Amino acid sequence: MSLYRDDGVVLRTQKLGEADRIVTVLARRTGRIRAVAKGVRRTKSRFGARLEPFTHVDLLLYTGRSLDVITQAETVRAYGEPLSADYPRYTSGTAMLETAGRLTPVEKEPALRQFLLLVGGLRALGEGQHDPRLVLDAFLLRSLAVAGYAPALAECALCGAADLGGDSGGRAAPLPIPAGGPASPSWRPPRGSRSSASSSGSTLESATRRGSSSSCGSSRRSTAWAARSSPWGSGSWAACS
Ligand SMILES: [Zn+2]
Repeated sequence: MSLYRDDGVVLRTQKLGEADRIVTVLARRTGRIRAVAKGVRRTKSRFGARLEPFTHVDLLLYTGRSLDVITQAETVRAYGEPLSADYPRYTSGTAMLETAGRLTPVEKEPALRQFLLLVGGLRALGEGQHDPRLVLDAFLLRSLAVAGYAPALAECALCGAADLGGDSGGRAAPLPIPAGGPASPSWRPPRGSRSSASSSGSTLESATRRGSSSSCGSSRRSTAWAARSSPWGSGSWAACS
């Protein structure tokens, strides 16, 4: 049995047995921990109220066989207090906690940057100087980047082409939402997709027809990927215009 100390933000709690809870914490040095807090659902519990989501706690734990056990908990800062009476801020904070948990998939893998982002995001929410949706968006973009994800804004999300200059009419690059980013100017919604099916106007129909010869629809994406790994090179394959 070895004792260790760490501080972290409580992400969620689950009931365990009659009086215990499993507490998930994103800790500064250890990363995400799932630990048992014994007896915390009894009214006499010494630290039960401190182990609630949004609370930054200083913990003393010992390593158990499957789950570690929390033996002491001191509140560093209760980020949940200013959020509890404000629904938009509360939901934004809840999304932050869930994101932080999902972007730290491996238990006890140190995730200091995610921890610092979460503390910064919760503090900004609590201070209330910015729209909670903006605070959440900033948090999501940064934590995704830390986890290795970033939106592709400078190239086509379907084929990777760098030219997103838009067409000669000065229109911006199309943005097929399912692709997760902008597409080449030649891209058109595939036939039968909701946007073209619901449009009875002839403009979109003719645009689809005009673009079909050089479309970079997702059906072409697989050939582009296949071409990249083919021994004959990619010379004759062009996914976009
Ligand atoms: Zn493309």
